[in-house]
Amino acid sequence: MTKFSPLSEFQATGDGHYQLAPFRFSPLDNERYVITNQAGEYSVQPRSVVAALVRHELKPSDSAYSRLRSKHFLFDSSSTIGPVMLATKVRTKAKRLANFTALHIMVMSLRCEHSCPYCQVSRQSEDRSAFDMTKETAEKALGLIFQSPSPAIKIEFQGGEPLLNFDLIRFVVEKAESINEVEKRSLQFVITTNLAVVTNQIFEYCKEHDILISTSLDGPAKLHNANRPRPGKNSYELAIEGIHRARAALGHERVSALMTTTKASLGMGREIIDEYVRMHFPGIFLRPLSPYGFAVKTKWYASYDTESWVDFYFDGLEYIIELNRRGTPFIEFYASTILTKMLTPFEPDYVDLMSPAGIGISAVVYNYDGDVYASDEARMLAEMGDKSFRLGNVHRNTYAEIFTSDALLDPIEQSFAGSAPMCSECAFEPFCGSEPVFHKATQDDFVGLKTRSSFCYRNMAIFKRLIGLMEEDPSIRELFMGWTR
Ligand code: SF4
Repeated sequence: MTKFSPLSEFQATGDGHYQLAPFRFSPLDNERYVITNQAGEYSVQPRSVVAALVRHELKPSDSAYSRLRSKHFLFDSSSTIGPVMLATKVRTKAKRLANFTALHIMVMSLRCEHSCPYCQVSRQSEDRSAFDMTKETAEKALGLIFQSPSPAIKIEFQGGEPLLNFDLIRFVVEKAESINEVEKRSLQFVITTNLAVVTNQIFEYCKEHDILISTSLDGPAKLHNANRPRPGKNSYELAIEGIHRARAALGHERVSALMTTTKASLGMGREIIDEYVRMHFPGIFLRPLSPYGFAVKTKWYASYDTESWVDFYFDGLEYIIELNRRGTPFIEFYASTILTKMLTPFEPDYVDLMSPAGIGISAVVYNYDGDVYASDEARMLAEMGDKSFRLGNVHRNTYAEIFTSDALLDPIEQSFAGSAPMCSECAFEPFCGSEPVFHKATQDDFVGLKTRSSFCYRNMAIFKRLIGLMEEDPSIRELFMGWTR
């Protein structure tokens, strides 16, 4: 069985008036369909128009005709550069593949003085330094990092709490800077930290070496402290103080924060957003829990269903739109990523929404023990006993062995959304991703049955809502244009 209609379906009809370009269509509601082309441009049309388009029955005088021609759904004798433009847009979207891995995550230590029950890493208590990366492992990892052809290299220090192994961070930063004197890449460092153990000396060092800080902020004090237990029960107070100190030392825009939605967050979406506005963050990423590590062991992952999270997300989105209309510039970052795909020719670098999957290609993880994983989620899955995405080890494998391993290529090939069941026929495929790690974790399969996939449910609901909002109110489309990156 072929996946494509015969060539004759696409060719101009006898009267010669138009030729179809490949496109996909999915219902938006009972009346309307979303149609998308290969470059991710979309149009919303009544069912009757889609049916007429497919049958070559649209007339140049029909109002939809020129709109569909300008978005490369059909070509006629006046479309002299249409196919070339479409091809250029498709190439622009796929450009990231040529650069290969830009984000290199180094796990400095699994130790942490927090004991968050939703933690996706199987953290170790503060004194077990057997779970720290060594200098030898870090040096080997750096050797691999600079073999990436990417002109931009971002090294992100993660944990556990990476600042518990700060001496190694210093070693890596200085070694990478020295290698880069010859390599001349665009080199950037990020420390992902809960800010509980940060000192002024560390901030001074970050300033000197232009290091960004990424921290966690789950919302107001009560929620944050309940989500993120630590000795002293003061995670929130330390995070807020740390954000202020980090901004004073490094500059306001050098500090970002991430939240995770727990069951307790579900009724507090607007308060969480208010907390981010109060702290003068430019936006928020409303993130669901992920099915890895402690979040699964403690059953926190199963504490709410996807439908509840989607309701939480939509209420937050509505509130952020209201804030924008009242003059507070603020964005939701997940929507911003999707809108960039929908409204611009560019492809944002977000590993979860990529096909071919972004694992290994956009990001890779060097674990504390030298094992190399295809993504952060992949090493979390390994901590749970499933090492399917372990690509090799910095001490034993070469760059070529790691990045051409079956452990990387098989899931990328199998999960490619353009040919995966259901995704290959879904109009939202250009905005979506293939997420083999998520589907391996939840369905023990790189592709997964999408009718049972909460990844699919959540994303399809968001794609439809964003498009629906833009269709209903042109001013929201204008507002969303300002959210694109
Ligand atoms: S995961 Fe779901 S929403 Fe995404 S492309 Fe596949 S079918 Fe469409």
